[in-house]
Amino acid sequence: MGLSEIAKGIAPSPTLKLNERALLLKQRGDPVIHLGIGEPKGKTPIDAVLAASASLGSGDIKYTPADGIPELKQAIVRYMEDNYQKTVDAKQVMVSSGAKAALYAILRTILNPQEEVIITVPYWVSYPEMVKLAFGVPIIVRPEDGRFEPKVSDIEQAVSKYTKAVIVNSPNNPSGAVYSEGFISDIVDFCERRGLYLIMDDIYHKIVFDDIVPPNPYKFAREQGENSRLIVINGISKLYGMTGFRIGWAVASKKIIEVATNCQMQTISCPSALLQVAAVGALLGMQSYVDALRRNLQNNRDVVVRELETISDVKVFKPQGTFYCVADFRAYSFDSTALSEFLLDKALVVTVPGKEFGLEGYLRLSFAGSTKEVIEGVQRIRWALDPSAPRDIYIGDRRVLRDWK
Ligand code: PMP
Repeated sequence: MGLSEIAKGIAPSPTLKLNERALLLKQRGDPVIHLGIGEPKGKTPIDAVLAASASLGSGDIKYTPADGIPELKQAIVRYMEDNYQKTVDAKQVMVSSGAKAALYAILRTILNPQEEVIITVPYWVSYPEMVKLAFGVPIIVRPEDGRFEPKVSDIEQAVSKYTKAVIVNSPNNPSGAVYSEGFISDIVDFCERRGLYLIMDDIYHKIVFDDIVPPNPYKFAREQGENSRLIVINGISKLYGMTGFRIGWAVASKKIIEVATNCQMQTISCPSALLQVAAVGALLGMQSYVDALRRNLQNNRDVVVRELETISDVKVFKPQGTFYCVADFRAYSFDSTALSEFLLDKALVVTVPGKEFGLEGYLRLSFAGSTKEVIEGVQRIRWALDPSAPRDIYIGDRRVLRDWK
């Protein structure tokens, strides 16, 4: 029996696959350190737990409007005011089952088959696959070597008559780069002039360090009304460590949201009623969770950069946000998949191959875990790769010797 050529061509999420492999090793009792993880380790904020528990206790959990419950949409309207100084109508908001689902619904809403979406390197692994699933064509734009901010001139060169949208993700997964005000203002202007949609994946926009404020795309938009081509994606997964709740949203013009909502209505009906209530709890509850998260992550960021710099010939890009760090391991291998597997086999450390983000020769390390794990994880990597590192190390309670070159 034949299957869809498009569906067959979709790659599995490498990070979710790595999670499964790490879990199996852990279950076997191996002292694995997971630097691949894409979620903060803290517990769900109490306000979210209480709100969801009260809702569950009521026993009254039914379908909701396809675009989300009014309370959550209102909380998102307020979030837009607080964080973007932008007043939006509730009709400009669609809640989805995660930022991923919101982004996918948007891609389906704006793309005709074969239309192109520009994605810059390094990119979140899912963008190209999601564009393909929405019958579009991902066009990958690679900045000059060593740069972690795209250039509008490179994007311009990739535009064709089929181009429909550009996706920008800042703070960026995997690099942790926060794109400059110059770039954001130029790309907003460019997309307006060329009639392209600009999809801003802002899922990490509050996870920033050193008092950086990520540039606000609305500030530079000439078109602030119904003709706006700006689409902002956000959610609770990263900010509140609520990855398992699967709530995210899109903010765009009413027309885009109306069509996206119809698509959502005919596929998932609505996001889970219970989990939407939890999201209201998180958004309207105490925000000290977010400050604590930012402080801990900034400390871990400093630690991971410091530790990586002890590995000879590894070049580290200092993240300004997110909880990921990329480092150039080409001094050791040009094949990041093989390198990542080697590190898992020899040192029991999970890393994500840069290849998955368009950065062959790099590894992505997450510093969302504990400081102790971050230190030990990078020390194991150094031990496994760097000939100048001591030859023996403790992995769990086993002393091991590096007996390879
Ligand atoms: N965008 C980026 C850049 C991400 O890293 C992630 C999660 N890894 C998402 C979107 C998806 O978030 P959610 O859990 O809300 O679907």
